[in-house]
Amino acid sequence: MSSKTYDAIIIGAGIVGSACAAECAREGMSVAIVEAGIVGGGATAAGMGHLVVMDDSEAQFALTRYSQQLWDEISDELPREVEHDACGTIWIAADDEEMAEARRKEKFYSDRGVKTEILDAQSLAEAEPNLRPGLVGGLRVPGDSVIYPPCAAQFFVDQATSKGAQLFPGVAVDAITGDGVRLRNGTSINGGLIVNSAGSSSSSLTRGLEVKKRKGHLVITDRYPDFVRHQLVELGYLKSAHTLTAESVAFNVQPRKTGQLLIGSSRQFGVDDARVDTSILTLMLDRAVEYLPGLGKLSSLRTWTGFRAATPDKLPLIGPHAEHDRLYLATGHEGLGITTSLATAKLLVAQIMNRETKISVTPYLPARMAQETRHA
Ligand SMILES: Cc1cc2nc3c(=O)[nH]c(=O)nc-3n(C[C@H](O)[C@H](O)[C@H](O)COP(=O)(O)OP(=O)(O)OC[C@H]3O[C@@H](n4cnc5c(N)ncnc54)[C@H](O)[C@@H]3O)c2cc1C
Repeated sequence: MSSKTYDAIIIGAGIVGSACAAECAREGMSVAIVEAGIVGGGATAAGMGHLVVMDDSEAQFALTRYSQQLWDEISDELPREVEHDACGTIWIAADDEEMAEARRKEKFYSDRGVKTEILDAQSLAEAEPNLRPGLVGGLRVPGDSVIYPPCAAQFFVDQATSKGAQLFPGVAVDAITGDGVRLRNGTSINGGLIVNSAGSSSSSLTRGLEVKKRKGHLVITDRYPDFVRHQLVELGYLKSAHTLTAESVAFNVQPRKTGQLLIGSSRQFGVDDARVDTSILTLMLDRAVEYLPGLGKLSSLRTWTGFRAATPDKLPLIGPHAEHDRLYLATGHEGLGITTSLATAKLLVAQIMNRETKISVTPYLPARMAQETRHA
């Protein structure tokens, strides 16, 4: 396919691969981006685009916080179609136990320099009048924001190609070889190093990777400007998002710049079928209507599903493969890959260039997972 030998071959032009490609190209590397479908067409197109600081662990916090700072740094450069909206998040407490969680979260964030604001029942109702009465309060995190992820991926690919990277769209990698990648069309591309950023398909290219598909559903409505003003997430979300086995739904609603509402979210393991599952969808929408009763009267336009790439310890794999020195991994970002794409790219390239990193890479190193990996 190409007689050239690239410094880096990036497999997958989701938001993670695209951000890595832009960063590699910025460092002067010659880059090939090989994408089986279209740019940003995988989980990146299916995701909500909530850029959110999370505190499930110190490592998760460090990565999301660092990445959010990187998004803030480029917010003025993002093209209009990326729809960056600094709407903030409100974590909603339905009872006293969840309010205690809001206070714990508030302390965790403010101890680490993230601005937050505790809302009582009245200030929550004033901030979001369409929420049902009787909620106890919440936590506002004003620094969180929202983007439209496929356009962000395209923006990063454009940055990479403007620095000489070559995009191979509609071209699937069949196998990672000793000196590059073999393509499904029978040809090859040679590269000094290979980055497996194929999202939930990454484990089919690198055997032994503990990356599993975690299905999610989303619904988008017609335009109802100002129906909600922040990304609204129930604090019960934390229970459902962080169990590794259960099939779960949680209230998670996002205002889009278009005036539309994006309604999530569900999580299912062990399901490969991408079709909409009406039983899960019903549970998810019922949950949303519990919090926003007026939602039941609005029109939805489209429902879709996507697959998160989940690792057992809920942290992504960023860095060299434990056994193959020319293979790097940038995968396993589960439900936070839009947020953490930029930090992933920085950490990956710093490791390639043997440079200091702004945050410790240790928690994300692939070597932490016991792997018995052989290439196909
Ligand atoms: C319902 C849902 C809601 C979400 N909400 C959020 C959110 O609000 N905030 C957030 O931060 N994250 C969210 N996420 C997670 C986020 O979408 C993902 O973590 C992120 O998109 C992962 O990006 P990626 O580039 O790793 O994977 P992908 O976007 O899946 O990209 C991988 C690419 O690799 C390509 N590929 C695969 N196999 C091959 C091959 N053999 N050869 C060549 N190319 C190949 C695919 O075509 C694809 O384009 C959500 C996910 C889902 C499913």
